[in-house]
Amino acid sequence: MFTLPNLPYAYNALEPYIDEMTMKIHHDKHHQAYLDKFNTALEKYPDFYKKPVEQILAKLDSVLEDVRTAVKNHGGGHYHHSLFWEMMSPKGGGKPIGKLAEAIDKEFGSFEVFKEQFTKEAAGHFASGWTWLVKDGKGKLSILSTPNQDSPISSGLMPIIGIDTWEHAYYLKYQNRRPEYVEAWWNVANWEKADEYYSSK
Ligand code: MN
Repeated sequence: MFTLPNLPYAYNALEPYIDEMTMKIHHDKHHQAYLDKFNTALEKYPDFYKKPVEQILAKLDSVLEDVRTAVKNHGGGHYHHSLFWEMMSPKGGGKPIGKLAEAIDKEFGSFEVFKEQFTKEAAGHFASGWTWLVKDGKGKLSILSTPNQDSPISSGLMPIIGIDTWEHAYYLKYQNRRPEYVEAWWNVANWEKADEYYSSK
């Protein structure tokens, strides 16, 4: 069965940008619920418990139709939140580093231009979902928003860094002010981890 990863820092470590209560509910309740429903969906097909979640999502067609939607929604939820905790850090913020920094400059012109485009996309995306920086099979970067828990990886795109734009990710502290949440999130963006994801595979 799939298990809930621990947060790599304390619940209050991302204060004041992401508040402790939000982190607690987001990780312990929301992520746990995705995980439980994902495990339940696979009860009839226990072979899938042995596969990495990203492999399952990359080949959704290999999941039998009776549970495919549940796997897409709850497997996606489990995968994205597992990434999201790692994509933030109390030591985050600042600018991209390493090969990723070079690739962002090349694709977008500069980090500032990328940041502006990503912020606009995340603040304006009309759905509960995610906004991602993804790379395709050739290493090309792009900004992509996805609704619900639909995963970029199901379209062959690898998440490098991303922000959860479901209201449960920010409502307690920011209420309807999603743009403020997105602005604050830049202060905890984990560029070290993002460079790791970009440079792998
Ligand atoms: Mn979430």
